This record gives sequence, C-alpha cells and structure tokens, in this order.
Amino acid sequence: MTGSGASFRLDNRTALVTGANAGLGSAFALALARAGADIVAVGRKPPTETAAGVTAVGRRLEFVEADLAEMNPADIVTRALGKFDGVDILVNNAGIIRRQDALDLDEQTWDEVMNVNLKAVFFLSQAVARQLVARGRPGKIINVASMLSFQGGVRVASYTASKSGLAGLTKLLANEWAPHRINVNAIAPGYFVTDNTTALRADAKRNAEIVGRIPAGRWGEPEDLAGAAVFLASPASDYVHGVILPVDGGWLAR
Ligand code: NAP
Repeated sequence: MTGSGASFRLDNRTALVTGANAGLGSAFALALARAGADIVAVGRKPPTETAAGVTAVGRRLEFVEADLAEMNPADIVTRALGKFDGVDILVNNAGIIRRQDALDLDEQTWDEVMNVNLKAVFFLSQAVARQLVARGRPGKIINVASMLSFQGGVRVASYTASKSGLAGLTKLLANEWAPHRINVNAIAPGYFVTDNTTALRADAKRNAEIVGRIPAGRWGEPEDLAGAAVFLASPASDYVHGVILPVDGGWLAR
C-alpha cells in the first residue's frame, strides 16, 4: 500500500475558508469542523453563526477580517499563522456575481468580479502553498467553481469568465503542486439556495425552468456539499488532482 487509505478525518488540521459567514462557505466550514478541523474564517464580517456551529462540535474558529478585493493574501496567511501553527486546507469559497447584458457590462463590474473570483483565489492559493512548501507539509486546496465553469450562462459574462478561468487554474495548480503533495481540486455546485441565487429564485419563470431541468427535482441545500468538501480536504483524496467535481443534482448530466 502506498496510499494513505480512505481516511475522511481532518483531526489536527486547520482549514482556511473564505466567505465563511454566509451561504455555502458556512456549510463548508461546518462540514470540515465536524470532520475534525479547526477553522480560520476569512471575510469582511464576523461569522457569528458559523462560529457557534464550529464551537458546538468542539472545534475552534478564528476570524481574520479581510476584504479579498484588496489583494492582501500574504497578510491574511500571516494573520492565520498568528492563530494556528499552519494552514493545511484552503477553501476558496468567497465569490460574487453581477448580472448584466454583455452589451452593457462595464469595466468596473468586470474587474470587481474577476478580482474576487479569480485573482484573489490565485494569490491566496499561492500564499497558502508557499507556507505548506516551507513547512514541508502536504495540503489541500478546494476551489469553488460553478456550472458556469462548464457552460456559458446568460447575462453573467464576468462571472462565467471567472469561473471558467478558475477551472483552468485548478488544473494548472494541481499539475505544479502535486509534487509538493498539495492536491488542488474544485467543487462545482449546481443551483443552491443562498443569497447568490435570490434573484433567480425570485423570478418564477427562471425558477421553474431551473428546477425542471434538475434530475434531482430540487435546488441544492448548502449541506449537500458537505461530503464532497470533506472528501477533497481529507487523505481519502490524496491521489485526486485537478478535478472539477460537480455537485449539481444531475444538472450537467441532463
Ligand atoms: P453568498 O451567500 O453571496 O456568499 C458569498 C460569500 O463571499 C460571503 O461570505 C461574502 O461575504 C464573501 N465575499 C464576497 N466578496 C468578498 C470580498 N471582497 N472579500 C471577502 N469576502 C467576500 O454566495 P454563495 O452562494 O454562498 O457563494 C459561495 C461560492 O459558491 C461563490 O464562489 C459562488 O460563486 C459559488 N457558487 C454558488 C452557487 C449557488 O447556487 N449558490 C452555485 C455555484 C457556485 P460578505 O457577506 O461580506 O458579502
């Protein structure tokens, strides 16, 4: 046996999760904590509810306040290392979406989305990988992709560009960092109930079209992502590199 076996436990690991105060990020943090990890929550607002959930399962959560649009990745990792001995797992969850016809899309909106969804992801991954390599430790990076890493979508040009770019970046980083025992993979959520999709769910026609196309027949709940996240964060995925794993109720299979 050369592999490390199918352990899904994350004891003695620290996971840095961006945007853990809300939506999918909160679910990722709670899932990893239940599997044994301590959490560094990075974001603009204190993750009060997430922290209560993490504490309730006996793990520790520390908040590092940061606006990812300001490109401060090295500082974020330095502050995380002030609270824990190292960062073993990174979940690049924070992301934004802006809906506009491509004919009207302005440069500021384009930059805003690309900076948070793609540029910050790259430089935070780099900062986390640098400290893993310096410590000689293995690690796991999980990017949060989208159906629009595979499909075009409509009225979300900057978002589609960012998430399609993220799929490519995931594969590139997997290739470069596998020799360092760092696994880089992505989860591509389908249509999930969060603030990100409020506008879609409020539009009765779009809502019916979406649900009608999902083989599972319902929107995803954040908890539906827990298993995939723990798998990609744990030794069970040690030989998995560069995959974009859809968790979509069958949307892409349709
Ligand atoms: P959400 O409820 O809107 O949460 C987004 C999170 O990102 C929030 O914690 C938000 O913090 C954080 N964030 C945004 N801009 C930030 C910045 N500049 N600095 C720091 N944090 C920032 O959305 P969600 O649905 O949970 O989305 C999470 C991820 O899943 C995103 O990458 C999204 O693209 C992806 N995704 C979602 C779906 C879905 O159906 N919901 C589907 C596919 C992919 P604030 O609270 O401070 O704004």
